Amino acid sequence: MRGKMEHTYSWPYANEAGEEEVVTSDVVVLGGGLAGCYAAIAAARKGQSVVLVEKGATERSGSAGTGFDHWESACTNPCSQVTPEEIAQAYVDEQDWYSNGIAHYIECREGYDRLLDMESFGGKVRDTEDEFKGAAFRDEETKLMFAYDYKNKFTLRVWGSTFKPALLKELKRLGVKIYDRTEATGLLTAMVDGKKRGIGAMGMNVHTGRFYIFRAKATVLAMSRPARVWLFNPDMVGLCEFRPMQSIGSGHAMGWRSGMEFTMMEKSVRAEFSAAGRSFPPYGAGNNHNTWYAATMVDARGVEIPYVDRDGRELKTVLERYYPAEGQKFFLKGGVIDNPKYEYRGPETLDFEELMKRGYQLPFYADLSRMPDEERRVIWGMMVGEEGKTKIPVLKNYTDRGFDPKKDMLQSYGTGWQSANFLEQERQFFGAPGGIMHDWDLQTNIEGIYAGGDQLYASDCAGFACATGYYAGRKAAAFAAKSELMEYDREDAEAEKKRLYAPLYVENGMSWKELNMAISKAMQNYCGGIKCEALLKEGLDLLHSFETDIVPKLSCRNPHDLMRTHEVLDILTVSQMVLHACLSREASSEPLCFKRSDYPAEEAVADRKHIVIRQENSEVLKRFVPLNFFGNLKEEYEKRNQDYIREVAERG
Ligand SMILES: Cc1cc2nc3c(=O)[nH]c(=O)nc-3n(C[C@H](O)[C@H](O)[C@H](O)COP(=O)(O)OP(=O)(O)OC[C@H]3O[C@@H](n4cnc5c(N)ncnc54)[C@H](O)[C@@H]3O)c2cc1C
Repeated sequence: MRGKMEHTYSWPYANEAGEEEVVTSDVVVLGGGLAGCYAAIAAARKGQSVVLVEKGATERSGSAGTGFDHWESACTNPCSQVTPEEIAQAYVDEQDWYSNGIAHYIECREGYDRLLDMESFGGKVRDTEDEFKGAAFRDEETKLMFAYDYKNKFTLRVWGSTFKPALLKELKRLGVKIYDRTEATGLLTAMVDGKKRGIGAMGMNVHTGRFYIFRAKATVLAMSRPARVWLFNPDMVGLCEFRPMQSIGSGHAMGWRSGMEFTMMEKSVRAEFSAAGRSFPPYGAGNNHNTWYAATMVDARGVEIPYVDRDGRELKTVLERYYPAEGQKFFLKGGVIDNPKYEYRGPETLDFEELMKRGYQLPFYADLSRMPDEERRVIWGMMVGEEGKTKIPVLKNYTDRGFDPKKDMLQSYGTGWQSANFLEQERQFFGAPGGIMHDWDLQTNIEGIYAGGDQLYASDCAGFACATGYYAGRKAAAFAAKSELMEYDREDAEAEKKRLYAPLYVENGMSWKELNMAISKAMQNYCGGIKCEALLKEGLDLLHSFETDIVPKLSCRNPHDLMRTHEVLDILTVSQMVLHACLSREASSEPLCFKRSDYPAEEAVADRKHIVIRQENSEVLKRFVPLNFFGNLKEEYEKRNQDYIREVAERG
């Protein structure tokens, strides 16, 4: 095994394939993005010893590693005009209840506390240099800056590129043991008093190939969500998805292998942007979405495309775009609740024909030169700059090449903010997709295993990740405090090692790219926009044939390549989960973007329910859970979190 790597090619790290190390802690956190870092901090604050396992480098890893520009749902900040209950409920309603009420409530209730934490760690959350003094979106007393809804002030503009290094500093200060460049590959479980319990995890160093056994009393999963299931371009792998390349759903795959429950895995949306290298880099083309909200849009002749409110009233000033319509309490990012929509959103609108009917001519442009100075500067400068992946590729590169938002316009490609049009079968995990099913403690169905952030079902956004990560970490710490370290089964470790190192034994085999390509083609063909039982079953057969025909032929040249191979094995597992979930739902469902030709009728509202799936002894089991299973959000939360409520009150 070791010889194989020595004989391949020059590699700057030690060859430790086959070597093994056992690491012990009270809590092990898998994934060092926002959720994982906060989970580790929460557990360490509770006095537990914590190990953090991160595939990349914690300092900059994860979706927010390069930054993010706004923090949603800071409902308890001193300027907020909304309550956590109102906004959490709005998120639930927005998804027709196919939403994560528990996690959204935690986000809305505790999110601002995490932002204050972040500030104490050194992250920048206020306009301390008075760059935007006097702007309508800034509160002069607190120097907090708001986005989207300037009246209700619950979404904050933040300097997200400062956050991950600040978190790393705090982790180190708290004594969290960080294993960077280490992929978690499998969970360790044992039966305790007739119940399955998580007792740690296994992994591999992606530079050296060293195998790890992480023994722990409690485990937190924070490895984000699946990707590259339908879309893969072997020549542009880094541009295949919106989220970072190393997050491909391995947390889902290892959970599935261990019998963990998942829900909404049948939901996939038609691809939006940043997929398979087909679109411009996120926020790099003229648009008026998210980071660019509410940029002025013009057509080819320079004619302005007006904004309208939810009632169709044309908005005359730029400032009006940031306020709810008359009689409307609030609106969510870009306007998604209570049908405000600013539905006539320029090129972002899907109603392209309507735009053409009105005589607008392509191409469209974002024209910041027509906006007030502080609105222009806060979009081009702060937001485009602090958003993920925009600081260097967009802000710096465009500025270096002479782009001046005071006089230049930025072209919008295609007809939407996505800057690319995708086919019905080109799908993604996006827009509150499926994930881990959990209870009010964010505990999975496997005792002692908790989850946070984008790994949860119907997850969304940075505030969600930080708040749920912290919450999962504190519940995991409480579990660890009353639990014993359990012995793991040596056979589990041996089987995992064999699985992980298998591609090292294959000479001149197939590459992970070939398998990823095959999977994405299979998923487009058999699990595309319109599904039916026959197609889904054929899809499962085909994926099974990949397991028997392609997987044994996979080979790799170094530990990095080996890690990529493990990722695609996990993509294969996730694809199977998706097919099983699709087979389980015998109805079409608009909220889940789910269409079946053999069950074309839309599911009646009264019949809507979560379908929760898991695997046991190679069989897929399903159960139904009512969409309102979480109960009254405030009451249920307060029942379980009196200690935290007291802590916050004491802190003032
Ligand atoms: C370009 C971009 C811009 C965004 N902008 C915003 C914004 O402005 N506002 C907002 O609220 N949200 C934004 N988001 C979303 C937000 O960043 C994410 O929802 C959030 O960061 C999720 O946090 P997480 O910890 O769950 O996942 P991540 O931050 O993605 O972290 C997952 C971590 O797990 C690691 N990992 C994966 N697999 C393994 C494994 N097998 N073993 C060990 N480690 C593993 C990864 O390396 C990664 O560090 C943006 C996302 C992107 C991609």
